[in-house]
Amino acid sequence: FLKNDPMSLQKDILDHVEYTVARSRFNFDDFEAFQILRSSTCFLIFKTHIIRMQALSHSVRDSLIERWHDTHQHFKKQDPKRLYFLSLEFLMGRSLSNSVINLGIRDEYAEALSQLGFEYEVLSEQEGDAALGNGGLARLSACQMDSLATLDYPVWGYGLRYQYDLFRQVIVDGYQHEQPDYWLNFGNPWEIERIQVSYSVKTSKLSHHLIEFLMNKFYGMVEEKASNGVKYKVWTPGETVEAVAYDNPIPGYGTRNAINLRLWAAKPSGQYDLESYNTGDYINAIVNRQKAETISYVLYPDDRPYQGKELRLRQQYFFVSASVQGIIRRFKDVHDYFDEFPDKVAFQINDTHPSLAIVEIMYDINHCFMEDLKRQIGQDYSKLERMSIVEEGIVKSIRMANLSIICSHTVNGVSKVHFELLKTRLFKDFYDLLSQKFQYKTNGVTQRRWIVVSNPGLCSLISKWLGIEAWIRNVDLLAGLQEHASNPVLQQEWRMTKTINKMRLADYIETSTGVKVSLDAMFDVQVKRIHEYKRQLLNILGIVYRYDCIKNMNKSDRKKVVPLVCIIGGKAAPGYEVAKKIIKLCHAVAEKVNNDDDVGDLLKVVFIPDYNVSVSELVIPGSDLSQHISTVGHEASGTGSMKFLMNGCLLLATADGSTVEIIEEIGAENMFLVGAKLHEDPQSGDKPAPRVSIPFIRVVSTSVHYATLWRTTKIYKLGADFSSYLEAQAMADRVFVNKEKWTCMSILSTAGSGKFSSDRTIEEYAKNAWRIEPCRCPS
Ligand code: PLP
Repeated sequence: FLKNDPMSLQKDILDHVEYTVARSRFNFDDFEAFQILRSSTCFLIFKTHIIRMQALSHSVRDSLIERWHDTHQHFKKQDPKRLYFLSLEFLMGRSLSNSVINLGIRDEYAEALSQLGFEYEVLSEQEGDAALGNGGLARLSACQMDSLATLDYPVWGYGLRYQYDLFRQVIVDGYQHEQPDYWLNFGNPWEIERIQVSYSVKTSKLSHHLIEFLMNKFYGMVEEKASNGVKYKVWTPGETVEAVAYDNPIPGYGTRNAINLRLWAAKPSGQYDLESYNTGDYINAIVNRQKAETISYVLYPDDRPYQGKELRLRQQYFFVSASVQGIIRRFKDVHDYFDEFPDKVAFQINDTHPSLAIVEIMYDINHCFMEDLKRQIGQDYSKLERMSIVEEGIVKSIRMANLSIICSHTVNGVSKVHFELLKTRLFKDFYDLLSQKFQYKTNGVTQRRWIVVSNPGLCSLISKWLGIEAWIRNVDLLAGLQEHASNPVLQQEWRMTKTINKMRLADYIETSTGVKVSLDAMFDVQVKRIHEYKRQLLNILGIVYRYDCIKNMNKSDRKKVVPLVCIIGGKAAPGYEVAKKIIKLCHAVAEKVNNDDDVGDLLKVVFIPDYNVSVSELVIPGSDLSQHISTVGHEASGTGSMKFLMNGCLLLATADGSTVEIIEEIGAENMFLVGAKLHEDPQSGDKPAPRVSIPFIRVVSTSVHYATLWRTTKIYKLGADFSSYLEAQAMADRVFVNKEKWTCMSILSTAGSGKFSSDRTIEEYAKNAWRIEPCRCPS
C-alpha cells in the first residue's frame, strides 16, 4: 500500500509532476517564487497551480485506485446482488477535496504540501467542477453515490461522459449569456479511460418523427427470413456507434470500499461499411462516421422534461444499450442461467430518462398490459386509454412514465408530499390498481461534502461539542447538539464560525460582482435554478417592497431596520425566456438599490453569476437565512434546503416538498413559514401583489417585458402569498437582532438535520426497493 507520511507523499507528488504531468520538478520548485504574488491574477501562476493540483490529484488517485481494485475483487469473490444506478446526469463538482476527506488523508497531504511551500486550499480550488447535470436530480445522484460507497453497498453507477457539461453563465448588462464549457480542457485526472471496454450500439437510421425512430428500431428494420424452412427475424441496423468506458472511482468514508461510476463516450465504430468508402467520397465518409461522436458531446441544459429532441433520444438509447450490455456481460461471467438475474441485479432508473433500458418490444409490453388490465377493470375505455403506454394522436407518442410504472417493481416518490401527489393526482389510476408498487423515500444529501468538506470550521466545532467524529457516518448523532443549543460558549463559537464563513462569502461577492457588503447584515440567500415555480420573482418583489419602505422612512425609523444583503444565484435554461427576464429584473433592481447612497448598507442586492456546486459550497456555509418559496405542490422534494439546514442557516420556506418533513423534524417555531399549505390551495392566486409600488417596478424593469412577469405572478400565486411572505421576513428581522435566539434556532437546525442525510435515504432504498446487502472490503 502507498505510504501516507509527509516525505513519501512529497516524493509521490513530485514524481507525478515529472512523470505524469511531465513538467520538470526543478521548474516546479522555481515557481515557488510566484507564490508571493498569489493574490495577483497572473495567468502563469494560475497555470502553475493547475499543474500542481493535477500532480496532487494523481497522487491521491493512486490511493483511490488501490481501494477501487480491492473493492472490485471483493465484490467479484462474494458475488452479492448488485445495484446498477442508471442516471443521465451526475453533478459531481470537484473530486480532490472530497477524495482526501473520504480517504482520511487530508491532513497528511496538507502537511506534505506545506513543507513543499504550497497551500492545500489554494491548490484544491484550482479544480474545475464536473457539472454533468443540471440541478437537484443530478446533485442527488452524486450524493447518493457518496452514501452508497460509504455504506459498503455493491453498486455501479452508469452515466454519460458529456464533453460539454452545463454551460457557463456570463452576465452582460444584466442579461444571462451562455458559454460552452469544455470541462476536459486540462484533462481529467480522476477518470480512467478503458479503451478495452467498449460496446457497439446499433441504431437504425433516424427519421424525422420521434415515433418512427422507435418503430424503425423495433419494427421497421426487422426483416423476416427463412432457413431450412424455419422462419426467423433479423434486424438490420443503420448505424453502429462504439461506447467507450471511462471509470471514475468514488471513495466511501471510513471504509476501504471505493465504487465505480462508469461514464460512456461515443466513438465511431471500428466496423466499416465498405460501401460508403467505395463511392469515391472518402472524406465525406469519414466526416459522417465522425458524427457518431456527437451523441455524447453535450448535456441538455434544461432541468424539466425535454420533448421531441432527436439527439436526446439517441443519447438515452446509446446510454442504456451500452450499460445493459455491460451489466449482462458481468452477470454472464459468473452465472449460467438468467433465472438468477433478479436475485443478482437491481436497476435504479433515475427519473424516466433511462427508461428505454426496460424496453424490448414496446407494443408487445403494452399489448400484454392492456389485455391484463381489461381482465381486471373490464371495458372502461377511458381508463384503458389513460393508462396505455402509447398515446394515440396524429403522431403517436410513448408515455415513458407509464412504461416505467408498468415495468418496475417499485415506484418511488421523493418526499411524503410528492408521494401524496403521485397517489392522488399524477398516477391515481395506477395507484388504484398497483398500490403495492408505490413507496416514498425522502431525498437526502451527504454530510461529508456539505459539512465536512465545505464547512471545516463547523465540522470541528460539532465534533468538539459532541466529543466524537462518529456523526460523519451516523448523522443522527447531530441531535446531541440540542442539549447545548442555549449554551453561551457554544453560541459564541457558533457565531464566530459563521462570521468567518461570511467573510469568505463577502470576499467572493466582491470579486465576482464588485459589490462590497457588510458582515453585520443578514445574508439572505436564494440559490437554485431559475424557475417561475421557485418564485425568485416573489423574492425580488419583496426586495422592491423593502426598498420602498426604507425610502419612505424617517431617520429614527431607519435606525431600526435590519441591514440585509439579498443574494440570488442560479442558471436559467437557455430557451426559457421568462427565467432569463427574471435574471435581468434582478440586475435592474440591484443596480437601482446598490447605487442609492441614501439606502447604503441597509439593503444590498447581488446576483452571483455561474452558480454551481463549488459556488454553493462557499455560499451555503456563509448564509444566515435561505429561501425555498416554491408555490405549494410544485417542488417534488428540493435538496438545497437540506444543505442550508445542516449548515445552521435558518429557512424561510413554503410547506412544499421536503420542507413539510423539515417542519416535523425541527418544529415550525425554528423556521419562518410562508404562504398557503397544500390543502388550503388558495383560489385567490390571481390577486395582484399588494403594497408594491408598481411605478417603481416599471422604472427598474424597462428592459423586461412587464406583461410576461405579470402572467407569472398570477399563475404562481405571488399575490396570494405576498402578505404572508412579508410577515415571515419581518419575523426573521425581529429574531435576527436577538442574537441568542437566532443562534439557538441555528444550532437546532443543524441538530435536527439528521433525517436529511442521503445515508438514510440509501438505507431505505437498499432495504425496501433494491433488496441489497452491504459488502465490505477487508481493510
Ligand atoms: N444546483 C446545485 C449546484 C445544487 O447544489 C443544488 C442542491 O441540491 C441544486 C441545484 C438544487 O437546489 P434546490 O433543491 O434548492 O432546487
